[in-house]
This record gives sequence, structure tokens and C-alpha cells, in this order.
Amino acid sequence: MSAGAQPRPGANEARVSRDDERLAAGLHAPRLDAVARVALDVPLPTLFDYLLPVPSDPGLQPLVGRRVRVPFGRGNRIGVIVEIGSGSSLPADRLRRVLDVFRDEPPLDADVLGLLQFATRYYHHPIGASVFTALPQRLREGSGAASARPHAFRLTEAGQARAADLPTRALLQRRLLELLRPRTPVALEALERTGRTARQILRQWQRRGWIEACANEAGAAPPAQRAPEPAPALTLPQSRAVQAVVSAGRRFAPFLLRGVTGSGKTEVYLHLAAACLSARGQALVLVPEIGLTPQLLQRFEARFPAAQLIVLHSELSEAQRLARWRTAQAGGPCVVIGTRLAVFTPLPALGLVVVDEEHDTSYKQQEGLRYSARDLALLRAKMRAVPVLLGSATPSLESYANVQAGRYRLLELPERADAKPPCIGCVDTRRMRLQHGLSKPLLDALRARVERGEQSLVFVNRRGFAPALVCSACGWACPCTRCAARLVVHLKAGQLRCHYCGHAQPVLRACPDCGNQDLLPAGHGTQRIEQALQEALPQARVVRVDRDTTRGRDAFSALHARIRDREVDVLVGTQMLAKGHDFPRLTLVGVINADSSLYSSDFRAAERLYAQLTQVSGRAGRAELPGEVLIQTEFPDHPLYAHVCRQDYHAFAREALQERRDMGFPPFAHQALLRAEAARRESVDGYLQRVAAHGARLGFPVEIYDPVPPPIARVAGRERAQLLVQAQARADLQRFLDAWTPHLSDRTVRWSLDVDPLEY
Ligand code: ADP
Ligand code: ZN
Ligand code: ZN
Repeated sequence: MSAGAQPRPGANEARVSRDDERLAAGLHAPRLDAVARVALDVPLPTLFDYLLPVPSDPGLQPLVGRRVRVPFGRGNRIGVIVEIGSGSSLPADRLRRVLDVFRDEPPLDADVLGLLQFATRYYHHPIGASVFTALPQRLREGSGAASARPHAFRLTEAGQARAADLPTRALLQRRLLELLRPRTPVALEALERTGRTARQILRQWQRRGWIEACANEAGAAPPAQRAPEPAPALTLPQSRAVQAVVSAGRRFAPFLLRGVTGSGKTEVYLHLAAACLSARGQALVLVPEIGLTPQLLQRFEARFPAAQLIVLHSELSEAQRLARWRTAQAGGPCVVIGTRLAVFTPLPALGLVVVDEEHDTSYKQQEGLRYSARDLALLRAKMRAVPVLLGSATPSLESYANVQAGRYRLLELPERADAKPPCIGCVDTRRMRLQHGLSKPLLDALRARVERGEQSLVFVNRRGFAPALVCSACGWACPCTRCAARLVVHLKAGQLRCHYCGHAQPVLRACPDCGNQDLLPAGHGTQRIEQALQEALPQARVVRVDRDTTRGRDAFSALHARIRDREVDVLVGTQMLAKGHDFPRLTLVGVINADSSLYSSDFRAAERLYAQLTQVSGRAGRAELPGEVLIQTEFPDHPLYAHVCRQDYHAFAREALQERRDMGFPPFAHQALLRAEAARRESVDGYLQRVAAHGARLGFPVEIYDPVPPPIARVAGRERAQLLVQAQARADLQRFLDAWTPHLSDRTVRWSLDVDPLEY
């Protein structure tokens, strides 16, 4: 349930039918009318019953998945029919009628609805809110007619044939014909600009079949003049991988494709997508963040210039999103490439699911319906009986455990197709003097690269100039007034900023506690490293890459071009730079500040560090220019670094999983986290103690931990706390949550439930 939802029984007359209530419905005389059970975008965990305008018959089934307009309270709302039943637990005189059924548009596909129903149960989120999460904004609103309006037209063969018959006097018609093309869609907007009656003429032509509506903004490269880029011959491990997935045919078969960056995973995806397209199927390719994977996109475009590529991500306009969604829903062969929300795209001809960088935590939605797109992608493949391929250099330990348990088949690409593995080593900084966090061996290595005209990357996992502004006399560190967090120094902007609530203020000149004017930045953010590098290597062109310098749509690709054009010697960046980019002249990677993750309280910190170090190491080196990675650390003997240096993922994963097993952590246990916040600390703590006690009384085999504050206990003036529930068996946890969640609502706090949480 979304934060703070207060079920208001009786607020709506057409209230509710839950399964148990429906069983009790024998009390009411069975009705002959069909009843639609409708999902509405309200924070109540139920469907709502409405009478359909037509009597019950088998022909009603196609109504499932259709949008409707229904009366609700005093107004009316858009909903989606999830089920059709023949009775209701509500008395007849309280059932209201569906006002409108949107029959002109296709219904939501059964498997998307099924997926949403599963997500609703599994994540304990209201069904209506879940269904509406998946719908494009335009469909959540009433704009049915507008959304059904085509965005573009193209000429049909009939249209081409009749064009010659047009009288010369029909000027507007001739103009329209000149604009229209047989294969390329032309935007409706452009056509309408030709004249006032253009709309009418188009409608007439559409009725006659001279033109057909099509989605213009589907992200399709216009059908190709270009020839497809030839596919390289696969290496033996690649063709084994492709073969394994292809021969799974049309049944559910999960695969884990492990291979370091550059080992040729994308090439495997491309081959599988080609096979899927040639069987007239639809392929769903999930990626963590579109902006960070432009190369993947370009390669799909180059390989399939004539195919329908549908790109879905968060920066689309609502019109674009709807148009692309509709194109996918139409069922033609296509490749959908999208971020986590794309897992809900209707794909009637789904033939393949790929999840690239499956370990990436951005697959987990952190608000509302807190789903894991990776986990739902697996379910989706299962529902449609198609193969699913998870790809990663460093698979999540959850997925690796599934391989160990024989549930997933492991496919491996052991080598980089075009380069030798980099040489990875630690720089022991225990007895070194660092210059602003940089060691002499690292600086020497950087200088050598600059002199050779090669590029380097210094990886700092932190934004801002430095984490905090600290008083050298009394130790005071500038806090955010609204959060239990320190402000971060942003030197270029001359500001202190809160990374939690966004508060910004000018840098202070003196300590407010003791008056000391010597305030020093503590720690090493990207800005500070950038400055230090510039001082140490005056001849080098140093460029910083983090969220502050890459805001805006095209900033990243512009930067990318500068790197490729060799306008940059040293990059300083956060994990943004670690992802799938390919810079051929980059031969050195320096890692700073990694140690803090070794002894973190988060049991997943080591897994993430391993993944980050592996990924960032993958940036270094190509065939002709071997790469080197230097990790600055005070713990050079830590086993995690040993595995990183030997590039032995299996050893790392086996050891880490054994540790998880010994400690009873996921994936050998299953968790749910209840988060709560309120203006007052007593409210939050009191609430969690109450619900914890209630949970304990339910008597399920689950462990309910004591409520604790999260790492940042106050954000934007609101106090936070959380409660962890853990069970050995997933089913026990689910049964507990079924019994417990109906008792979680409360007037004093905002709360949310996170099943399989990744952040604590
Ligand atoms: P990954 O997705 O694992 O990072 P890619 O598929 O991007 O790996 O491959 C890395 C590089 O190697 C790319 O430039 C790609 O074009 C090239 N490559 C991949 N497979 C082959 C192959 N079989 N033959 C030649 N080049 C290949
Ligand atoms: Zn002070
Ligand atoms: Zn703040």
C-alpha cells in the first residue's frame, strides 16, 4: 500500500469485493448481470465491482483488460477491468453501472494483467495502484479518444494506385499526396498544416483504405536506406550460448550469461534478437539506464536498420510513450529496449527476454510498487513460455545461487573478444603520504599515460568536492538543518548542498560553534580529486564526470564524443563511468576510496564493490594497448581485493555465498522491510513497536527485528525508522505479510513495505 493510505470503507458506494467476501456473498441473491471487477488508481487493496451495461454472456470475456469509465464517489474515474464475474458481495441496490467501455482501443494483454496481479500480491501493493503504474500516463487519464488518435499516416498500395486519378483542381489533396510516402510514416501534425480540411480528407482516405495509421514516434529508425551492419562470426563460446538459448525453443528456460565487459555478451543478444525477429517474434531487452548504454542502442540500430526498434525510458514525452506502447501492443516483430518499467510493455508476440547487467540495482523500483524488473522479467518469460537470458560480468549472488541450485543454466564467455584482461593491482597506502588522496604510484602511472597520449580514469565513488565541511578546531561538520545528514561541499557552485533533500546554501566562512575560520573539506569527492589532479598534472586535460556535470539529455553523449576525439587525458568520475562504455585509448584506471565498502553495515556492500571494481576495470585496455588497474587501499590483503586482482568471479561468488549462508542472509533468507516516517520521532517509534508486537502475535515462522533508524534518520524534517522481517522460506514470509499488512494502516505515520529490499 502506498504511503499513508487510509482505507476509507464506505467512502465509495461501489465498494469492494475481496475473495473471502465473495465467498460470503451467498447472503445476497446471485445476480444475472455481469459484474466487472475494476482496478482504480486508489490506494485501496481491492478491486471495485460495477455492473456492465450489457447482460452476462461468454462474449464478455474480451472485456477483461479494457479501460472503462466508472462512477466513483461523487465523480467518475478511469479504471481497467481485471475480471468479469457474475455476482457481487455488494447488495444489488448499491452496485453502480460502468459508464463507458473504451472499445476502440485494444485491451491490456492478459499476460501483462497477470504479471500485475502477481506483483500486487507479491509486493503487497494495491492492485489499482499497480495496474496504473504500468499504464502510460495518457491512459491513466480519460483521454481515450485523444490517445486513440493516430500520430502518423502512410500510403497504402491502394492509395498509391488511386493517386493518379485525383483531379488537378484538388490542390489540398495533391499537397497531401506529395507529403505522404508509401512506407515512411508522416506525422499527422505535418499533414494537418497543409490546410483546414486536411483532417477530413485524411479521415476519408483512411476509410477508403488509401492510407493507414501508424505510430510515428515508435523510435523506429525510418525503414532503411542503410544496409544492416554485418554480424561478425561468433566465437565458440558465443555460438554455444546462442545455440543453447535458441534450442530452448518456445519454452521457459532461464540462462545466466556471464562474461566480463567486452567478452561479447551484446553480440549474443544481437544474434538472439535476430533469431526472434526472423520468427516474427518480439524481443524484450531490459537495460539499467538508457543514457548510460548508448552503444548498445546504436548497435541494435546498426544491426537491424529495417526492424522496429522501440526504445522506452523515463525521458520520453507522454505522447511518445503511448505511441511506442501501442506499436508494441500491435504485435508486429520488434525489439523493445527499455528500462525497468518496460517489463510491463504489452508484447503479444513475445519470444525472448534479455536482462542486461542483471545485477544492477536500478532494476529495483524504490517507490510505489517496489518491484524488481529483473524478477518480473523472469516471471514474464515463464508466463509466456519463452527463454530468458540474464547477462552480467558479475551476476547478483541471487542469480548465482540459482545457478548453483540448478534453476538457471550458466553460459560463460571467458575472454574478451578484442582485448587481453587488464592487469589489476593494489597500491598499499598504509605507509604513504597522499596528495589530496592520491598516491605517488598512481600519480606516476597517470603521468606516464598523459605523456604517451593515452587516457586514464580515476574512479571516485562520491559526488561533490568533499563529503563535508569540517571545523579544524572543534570538529563541527556542517549539517543539513532538515536532515540527519551532512552538507556536501560543491566548490564550483560555491555551495553546500544536501544530497537527501536538495537544500543548498552558500559555503560558510567561519564555524558557527567556535568562530574558527579554518573550515576544511574532509574526504575526497570528485571535485576535490579533479582539482588535485589538475595541480599534480598541469599539462593534462582533466574532465570530471558525475551527475553534476552530466545533467541534461545530451551531456553524456557530448562528453563521450570528446573522449573519443581524444580531447581528454584524465577522467574523474563516479560509477556512471563504470558502465558499458568503450574508450579505446583508455589504458589506466585508478580506484580511490573503495575501502569504505569493505566494512559496511550493509551485507551487500562487498558484492557491489566487487561488481563496481570489475566493471570499472573493464574500461581499461584494448587489444593493442593493454590495460592496468591500480586500487588504492589500506587493506591490500583483503580477500575481496585478491579475487578482484585475480579476476576470479566464481571464487568471489562462492565465498560470498557461503558467508551469506552462514549468516542466514539473502538469498538464503527472505526479507521485507517496513519503513515509516512522521514529523515526530515518538510517532514513528510507537507505530513500529505496535505493528511489530502485532506481527509477533500472528505466530508465523518469521523473525521480526527491532525497529531501527535508517542510515539517514531524518530527511526534510521527517523522522524515519524501519522494521525488518525475515523468513527462511519465501512462502512463509508471504503468508505472514498476507496476514500482517491489513493491520498496518495508521493515522500518524506514512509507511511503505519493501519486499526483497536492496537498500536499508
Ligand atoms: P559485452 O556486451 O560483453 O561488453 P560486446 O558484445 O560489446 O561485449 O563485445 C565487445 C567488442 O567485441 C565489441 O566491439 C564487439 O563488436 C566485438 N565482438 C564481439 N563479438 C565478436 C566476434 N564474435 N567477432 C568479432 N568481434 C566481436
Ligand atoms: Zn568550530
Ligand atoms: Zn537535507
